[in-house]
Amino acid sequence: MSECIFCRIVAKQIPATVVHEDEDTLAFMDIGQVNPGHVLIAVKKHADNIFALDEAQASAVFRSATRVARAIRAAFEPQGLSVYQANGKAAGQTVFHLHIHLVPRYEGDGMALSWPVKNPPREKLAEYAEKIKARLA
Ligand code: AMP
Ligand code: ZN
Repeated sequence: MSECIFCRIVAKQIPATVVHEDEDTLAFMDIGQVNPGHVLIAVKKHADNIFALDEAQASAVFRSATRVARAIRAAFEPQGLSVYQANGKAAGQTVFHLHIHLVPRYEGDGMALSWPVKNPPREKLAEYAEKIKARLA
């Protein structure tokens, strides 16, 4: 069994609240919601970070991220959306398996993302996911 937590999520060995899945990516609710609608896009094949991707994988990851980002916008109508991939321990990364953070941002939010964040109850994740999935259909 893989030691990598995201490989295990991709393999469905750890449950996640999935909003979108395609050949190359799995998109699921971050258990730490910076703001309602915070989604992680994980590349299915293990890669530590974006530097390890070939062009086809890079396109697939950003295509998926863009699709889900549009659904988040439609569902929650945030003023903006932060998209990032932290890289390495010095950047505060804890899971070394490429994942893109999609973080809705609302008026009054500071530029800094507070980390870690208080987690919403599990049923909130499901509720957020349903709103996003409805916009992906
Ligand atoms: P980072 O390495 O800083 O990009 O953080 C990893 C992210 O994965 C954090 O935002 C965590 O909240 C999130 N995370 C860790 N475990 C899980 C899980 N089982 N399901 C969903 N999100 C997770
Ligand atoms: Zn992995």
